[in-house]
Formats: sequence, C-alpha cells, structure tokens
Amino acid sequence: MDSVFCLKHRGSLEYFEIEFPCPGIARGIFTTRKGGVSLPPFNSLNMAFHVGDEKEKVLLNRKIAADALGIPLEEFTSGEQVHGDKVVLVEEEQRGRGAFDLKDVIPGADALITGKKNVALTAFFADCVPIYILCPHDRKIGIAHAGWKGTALGIAGKTVKAMKAAFGVKERDCMAFIGPSIGPCCYTVGENVYMQFSDHFENKRDDFFKKLSHEKWSLDLWTANKYDLIFSGIEPKNIFVSGLCTCCNENLFFSYRRENGKTGRMAAVFKLI
Ligand SMILES: [Zn+2]
Repeated sequence: MDSVFCLKHRGSLEYFEIEFPCPGIARGIFTTRKGGVSLPPFNSLNMAFHVGDEKEKVLLNRKIAADALGIPLEEFTSGEQVHGDKVVLVEEEQRGRGAFDLKDVIPGADALITGKKNVALTAFFADCVPIYILCPHDRKIGIAHAGWKGTALGIAGKTVKAMKAAFGVKERDCMAFIGPSIGPCCYTVGENVYMQFSDHFENKRDDFFKKLSHEKWSLDLWTANKYDLIFSGIEPKNIFVSGLCTCCNENLFFSYRRENGKTGRMAAVFKLI
C-alpha cells in the first residue's frame, strides 16, 4: 500500500502531508530538511532551537514553513521533549508556547493533545518517531515524540489514554499515523535497550528486535509503536506507517544517528481545521 505521507511542494518548501482517510478534519505535516536558510550541518530547514543552530535562522525557517503551509507560527505549540512519557493537554492559554523562544516550551512534555482548532501541535525529530493520533469522530488530536526510551515507556498508548481521559474519545474511533523516523534497516542498539522493553511489551519483543550479533540488535521502532497503539485499543486497520527511514534518505531528512548527533530537526505539525 502506498504511504499516506505524501511529498508536496509549496514555494521553496518540500514537506510531507498526511492524506487522511477522513479529509476535512485535520492537517498533519512533516517537514523535510529542504527549503530553509540554515548552514551545514543544519542545512537547510532546521526547525529546532536546541541543536546549536543560530536562533535567527531557525526563526526564519519556521516562518518560511508557516507561511508556505498557511498555518500561523503563533499557533505552533511545542513541548520540551525529554524522552519521557508526560502527556500535556494544550488549551488556548498554552497556544504558541515554544514557537518563538525555546525558553517557554511546555516543560517536560513529550506528547501534546488538544481539541482546539487554533492550536498547531508541534514536535521536532531527527530519527525519533513522530506519532499522530486523530479521533475524527470527536475532532481531537494528539502528537507523541517516541525515541527508544519513549517507546519503551509506552508514550504512544499513554497519549491515547490521555485523549480518552481528557475528551472521552473511544479508542476504536481513533487513528494513528507513524511518521518518518529511523527504520530497522539502520537502527542498531545494544543489549541494554533490548532489556528495557521487557515489561510493557511482554512476549512481543522478539517481533521488533532482531539479534545481529553478540549484544547487538536491530530495533524496529515502527512495529514496537504499532504494538503499543494496539495495546491501547486502536484497531490495527487504523494504524498507518510511513515506512520512510530518516537515516537512509539523506537528501530529505536530518538523522541524528547518521550525523553522529550534530544535525538539525524536522518538525511534525498537527492541527485541527
Ligand atoms: Zn534506513
């Protein structure tokens, strides 16, 4: 099946947009590294303040993206992203946190949920897994940032649970979209990571870890998160995986692993319309 993440161009911006099975409810964006003004190693559309790039360039990149997408930068709302499992409900008062300054991001948050139309949930990625959760029935959204730590903590499922608690959404009405991130093709980890997946994932662990050699494993974060979403009650037919590896596709994506940590970030932007 073709990916629901479709590559689009608008002005200098090249980005992925989710083609939802239920159009007219939300927009889901994943920027590429193309179309911005940052210099190497952040070339060119680095969307994150915290990676060592010049702040003015990041702001300009964000404005380029916001203008091309037709989503006001004032609506971009982001969390601190600490590889934890905290989910925060975003109301009008938090709108725009982190859009213009790193200092006012929502502290400690790796996942955000909202029911407000003028809030664009935003998170930043270079290999970690972006997970977009939509309840089209109740018109609510959530976004989660899941590296291996967040995945092991079950942040995807916790985001679904937070949406249920805050909005009363039903799991069977929800859909999940797993965006571009490091694939099993490129993600080798050690025994320590394998051991962290023991409790929550029970006997499924060997479906997404493959032993490569003594104490080396390849980890499929897409499948791990898919299991977590299924555990949370989302139906498998409502989970869509982009299948795009950030490490394999150097022309399109920043990759923390490929660039040994010195690189920019793509933005996932999720908004009700
Ligand atoms: Zn790869």
